[in-house]
Amino acid sequence: NSSEARRYKIAVIPGDGIGPETIGASLEILQALQETLGSFQIEYTHLDWSSDRYFAQGKYLPDDWMTVLKPHDAIFFGAVGHPKVPDHISLWELLLPIRQRFQQYANLRPTRIMRGVDSPLKNISPESLDWMLVRENTEGEYAGQGGRTHIGQPWEVGTELAIFTRQGIERIFRFAYQIAESRSKKHLTFVTKSNAQRSGMVLWDEVAWQIAAEFPHVKTEKMLVDAMTVRMVHKPESLDTIVATNLHADILSDLAAAIAGSIGIAPASSIDPTRQYPSTFESVHGSAPDIAGRGIANPIATMWAGVEMLRWLGEEVAADAWMKAIEDVCAEGVLTPDLGGKEDTRGVTDAIRAKVIKNA
Ligand code: ATP
Ligand code: MG
Repeated sequence: NSSEARRYKIAVIPGDGIGPETIGASLEILQALQETLGSFQIEYTHLDWSSDRYFAQGKYLPDDWMTVLKPHDAIFFGAVGHPKVPDHISLWELLLPIRQRFQQYANLRPTRIMRGVDSPLKNISPESLDWMLVRENTEGEYAGQGGRTHIGQPWEVGTELAIFTRQGIERIFRFAYQIAESRSKKHLTFVTKSNAQRSGMVLWDEVAWQIAAEFPHVKTEKMLVDAMTVRMVHKPESLDTIVATNLHADILSDLAAAIAGSIGIAPASSIDPTRQYPSTFESVHGSAPDIAGRGIANPIATMWAGVEMLRWLGEEVAADAWMKAIEDVCAEGVLTPDLGGKEDTRGVTDAIRAKVIKNA
């Protein structure tokens, strides 16, 4: 009964390159879920914030972007990036302001090896790898502190100051522990580089152990980031919830995406755990200009982000139905070329939609 359906407002920013292709595919599945289940209804605000807008108007975001986005329950984001715009401009003008002003201080990156998808790690069964990587999303080397002096001189200096605050570390660890608690293994690994970085990383470790004491039933361990890359490859099944700084987690999550078989299936959520502001759900990959417009983009990264968005909204039944459909379609070998398959975006989307309608 649609009058009793739960209602959500979602802002959709398809962005650049393959963004509109994978977002379009995902909206089709959301439509199918909504119609099949009848338990929720989504009202969309479509926003053309992209590099095309930047070329036409000189800005990625309109001045009132906060007012526009604020009333939404979530932001569903495609990708931003254009070969003619340096990445640091598109990133700093579009995604980072949203992350920072909306206090999306946690970035979640679930990683699993899907049955049917070929991982570069051999001798590992798909079920044995199930990670939730929690990335601190506002501090560290990406806090925007630093600058350049003596520009153009042989003695020019560029500094990138890594910022860590007790409050920032506390809140990311509390959120990471809530996630670790909600998962069956109750195991949290925190990543650090405190053997070489003596201030911020030592503070990170101290706060980590303080928060750990509040969650005695979660097993906590510390890993240096360099050793962590080796552990992820050699003993992937020994990890569960992982929490790391902005920079470290950025790098580790690309490694995680590669281990899972393709960057084309890796989702990311930028979360404001306080729910004061809308959270953003997107893929790890960028606009992929090399394949944009060819209809071969893998829609699964954006779709999995859609699954995480539904979970954040509390629509677990719909989220499970969508995720199961993605898993089944992968297991049956309906794959795009990045996963070694022959299907295109249309084919994979149709297969997932058919499963969603059947399973939901
Ligand atoms: P941007 O400037 O937006 O970051 P990029 O090209 O630097 O774009 P990605 O978009 O992440 O970075 O692409 C990296 C590589 O992975 C490219 O070769 C791209 O084609 C491929 N790729 C990324 N996403 C997908 C996808 N969804 N399906 C298939 N291939 C993908
Ligand atoms: Mg790029």
